[in-house]
Amino acid sequence: MKKVVCLLTVLALALSLSGCAKEARGQVYAMDTVMNFTVYGRGGEEVLASMERRVRELEDLLSRTREDSEISALNAAAGEERPVSPEVYTLLERARAAAEATGGAFDPTVAPVVSAWGFGGEAYRVPGEEELKALLNTVGYSGITLKEREGKYFASLRPGQSVDLGGIAKGYASDCMADILSGAGVKHSLAALSGNILAWGAKTDGTPWRVGIRDPGRSDANVGVLLLQDAYAVTSGGYERYFEAGGKTYHHIIDPATGCPAESDLTSVTIVMDREQEELGGRAGNGTLCDALSTALFVMGEEEALAFWRGGTYDFDAVLVTADGRVVATEGLGERFIPTEGSGYAYETVS
Ligand code: AMP
Ligand code: MG
Repeated sequence: MKKVVCLLTVLALALSLSGCAKEARGQVYAMDTVMNFTVYGRGGEEVLASMERRVRELEDLLSRTREDSEISALNAAAGEERPVSPEVYTLLERARAAAEATGGAFDPTVAPVVSAWGFGGEAYRVPGEEELKALLNTVGYSGITLKEREGKYFASLRPGQSVDLGGIAKGYASDCMADILSGAGVKHSLAALSGNILAWGAKTDGTPWRVGIRDPGRSDANVGVLLLQDAYAVTSGGYERYFEAGGKTYHHIIDPATGCPAESDLTSVTIVMDREQEELGGRAGNGTLCDALSTALFVMGEEEALAFWRGGTYDFDAVLVTADGRVVATEGLGERFIPTEGSGYAYETVS
């Protein structure tokens, strides 16, 4: 099993003067990814330190590759009820709700299948058909049972099941970063937890943060730029994690219906949601939801993803990059999405 090595690499805990606001920057390697935080104002270093502590705490709680995490304990005890922290309870509840809302395109119980392909920290491999068929029998979010009794929280899974919160953990972490920034009275900050962006306030000059959406086909190019202020933007794409075997590429986003990497006609999905109109409220808010939706809409593919957006279950906008070279932006983004000239993509706005 691949061990997740978490090392702090504060490449730059730089203090500089930009305008009259102090800038503090930190880089953290956690949750198997690189996170970059920028905080403006007094006491930025302490805020950064709190942010880092919190992501490590979350990793300890949620990681499936750490045997002592709460999620590992729950998975090991599948079939039995286990006490869980209020935090894990809330997140499991959100994950199950997202699974229900997306018709199971997002499903945290896809964990055994994720592991069979080696995306749970194991060695990469292509599982056989029979193996996948057997594992698919364990998949189904309705197997997650949550109970609250006398202020205590309990969870159980069906025997053989396990959960993987990798599809929403970083989004949840971004909600937790928002809590910290709010508590510290920070006015301007950008937290980039890999593809999970939290734009806190605007830049110090009052203009929105500019965040590029990567061209899935080219790591050094963008398909466009999002102008973000008090908003979350979360991208999922097959290019983020994959392996090659027998001349084929297999990526980490699994279609729970087939047990195979989603054969999506999309190469990336970016979900954008305002921070104010919290759909879920409080902890596990819009960052968590955006993360679940980015994974789900990737699995759905273009047509179903747009139908889901039009269905209005949640108030969000999206930028879809299609395998046939189009970039489809939902109309709510308006001027907040700036296409990259000369990118080679055709741009469409949908309503
Ligand atoms: P993301 O990068 O947010 O799209 O999440 C991808 C991660 O979520 C994968 O690495 C798996 O750990 C997990 N995952 C893969 N497919 C699914 C799915 N259909 N539903 C929920 N989680 C998934
Ligand atoms: Mg996700």
